[in-house]
Amino acid sequence: MSDNPFHPPTTDAVPPSPGDLGPIPRPPSSMPGTVIAVLVLVGIYLVGSLLTALHNPARAVAEIGIGVLIFVGLVRRHALAWQWGMIMPILAALSTVVGVLAAVVGVLTAVTALGSAKDPSFVRPMMVLTLGLEISIPVLLSRRRSRLFYGLQCPRCQGLKIKAGNFFFTSFKCRTCHSAWRY
Ligand SMILES: [Zn+2]
Repeated sequence: MSDNPFHPPTTDAVPPSPGDLGPIPRPPSSMPGTVIAVLVLVGIYLVGSLLTALHNPARAVAEIGIGVLIFVGLVRRHALAWQWGMIMPILAALSTVVGVLAAVVGVLTAVTALGSAKDPSFVRPMMVLTLGLEISIPVLLSRRRSRLFYGLQCPRCQGLKIKAGNFFFTSFKCRTCHSAWRY
């Protein structure tokens, strides 16, 4: 058959890239404790945003909108929600750190100028709690059990260094063995 000139040439077919594993069944997994903890923390964060909504409505609307999208995505096992669940709290934490530093500098300035602290609360406890929340979320999401839940393990080499294969993170690429797959 291979000598048949009418046989469709196989070279016309789109050659799969070397490491492309194609669509593979998603390994079943019940939600690990780390992800449940993240959902609780995101929930607390959303309630906090609601409470400050009157104080800064524009910021609260943005926070709640993004937070709800991440929350729903995390529940539905979307790797994109995992990715933004890693990025957004880190950005928010940086903003909180700037706020904490400004508060510390403000108090120190008051101490120097007046001989005693004008604001006895020092760094406001809410800021510290917020910072703890913002740091805990990416720490929990980076745990192995969380990564497995979002399909972030290479089916070929079992590596956990996975990057998005496309913008919406519906395909996956292994940084170690360069395999690609989707669920
Ligand atoms: Zn791999």
